Amino acid sequence: MAYADLPAAGVLPDPVYSPPPASAIEHIAGHLAEHDISMRLDRDVSFLGNPQPEAPISYAAGAGGRAQRYHCSRCPGFVFLIDPVALQSPEEREAARVREEVQAALAELGPGAPVVRRGPAARDPKAAQREERCQQWMLARYRELGNREEVWDELEALPQDDSELWGELAEGFHGLALDTIRRYWKRIPQPDRDAAKADYRAIPARERNAAAAARRKQKLTG
Ligand SMILES: [Zn+2]
Repeated sequence: MAYADLPAAGVLPDPVYSPPPASAIEHIAGHLAEHDISMRLDRDVSFLGNPQPEAPISYAAGAGGRAQRYHCSRCPGFVFLIDPVALQSPEEREAARVREEVQAALAELGPGAPVVRRGPAARDPKAAQREERCQQWMLARYRELGNREEVWDELEALPQDDSELWGELAEGFHGLALDTIRRYWKRIPQPDRDAAKADYRAIPARERNAAAAARRKQKLTG
């Protein structure tokens, strides 16, 4: 049963104890290791039949062509997919993406947030346009910088560093948290990111080095 299909808390009389399969446990243990947590399943993973509000991980089994997934309280805003299923059409992929986004937002709100039901999910068109413009800007900067972390940092600082440009990207929006920036980045199709990286590599080394030196100097003086 997928997270989205779960009835509201208290409706299921006696949830069946359904731990994640071994492959998922391995995936989750690997993730927790990145947070220096040595996993104990019943303590660290909340799943059907083992509700653990304090556990860092909440796991949902896959169903109806959806991948198994989990949220990590230390990584707010992210949904981790296990064995992502090849979804059929672009419409289905887009619907799944929107659903994940809503769920991630709800996960950030914490327990007590309403459970997302399947169905048409409306997305704020302004937010979609803002994401799209930020993604285009990040790709353009990535072609010049070749380092995604530097690009993210620049975008995060853009409201202060270049308010005019920021206004064009985000129309009065206050600024983006690094988590959101990373999420935008992750949703840029991989081929586009690869192409931008290839463009960066095509810049002659001498020019790349000169540009990097100029940036370092600008950081020091500006
Ligand atoms: Zn995490």
